[in-house]
Amino acid sequence: MPIRLLPPGIEVFERGWLSANNIFHFGDENVSLVDSGYCAHEGLTLELVRNALVKHSLPGLNTVVNTHLHSDHCGGNAALVKAFDCEILIPASEDQAVIDWDEDLLSYQNLGQECPRFAHHGLLVPGQEILLGRFLWQVLAAPGHDPHSVMLYQAEHRLLISADALWKEGFGVIFPELWGEPGFEEVAQTLDLIESLPVSLVIPGHGKPFTDVAGSIAIARSRLDYLASGPERNARHGAKVLLKYKLIEWRAKDIDLVADWIENTPALRSAAKQLNMDMPEFLQWLPNALVKSGAAKLEANSLVDVA
Ligand SMILES: [Zn+2]
Repeated sequence: MPIRLLPPGIEVFERGWLSANNIFHFGDENVSLVDSGYCAHEGLTLELVRNALVKHSLPGLNTVVNTHLHSDHCGGNAALVKAFDCEILIPASEDQAVIDWDEDLLSYQNLGQECPRFAHHGLLVPGQEILLGRFLWQVLAAPGHDPHSVMLYQAEHRLLISADALWKEGFGVIFPELWGEPGFEEVAQTLDLIESLPVSLVIPGHGKPFTDVAGSIAIARSRLDYLASGPERNARHGAKVLLKYKLIEWRAKDIDLVADWIENTPALRSAAKQLNMDMPEFLQWLPNALVKSGAAKLEANSLVDVA
């Protein structure tokens, strides 16, 4: 089991798709959590942290570190600060957007998601090191899925916290391309960076930690080639992922309310444009595409999540 490669002082709370994994680091001087899940799951996030603190007889949580500010990675920040009076560290290039809580720069409105407002206390600067639990980790820029995302690398134990830049089979939606900003080239460069590092274990943002890094990079590259060779492929995939994500939160939703949400989500309006669909056509296509792929079903007048 790859998880045996984890040195003492690190635990991975594997979550699902709505909440990103949380990585718990503990040592004598420092107790930290990397990524805090989605706000709808904040109760479980608090419980997981409390249980780990009790299990290891730790006084409290010092720091929460966010690899990037998508709602599934930082939605528990506000609740964790309230419960543990901990500090929040975010990628340096998001500094002003969070100070101003600028809805145009932060992704929540654009992607149709929720995130309770939080304040941060420090920054993650690519090239610098940060203490998490017992070990120093390098902060690495990892643009592509999100232009501001970072990864965290522990050289001595060859561990990589890859966030959504590399999963066992793929990577997170290349969102910038949905609204005409570059992302494909950045994903390729981030994969090159991962390949250049000695890595024994990847702790991804979603899914189990894995050891076959070369295999996953090969899968990711072929996926990238597929998406980049026709931007409408990325738009189709991104739109389906956004609706599926929302549907996991809703579980079931009246189809008219689903349509309202789609129409009011700017990233989806951009995707419709890239697909050369007008809104009525897109509102027909998108829920049906989820049903066709087996990710949802229609029951009476509701779109229902299929796990
Ligand atoms: Zn993400």
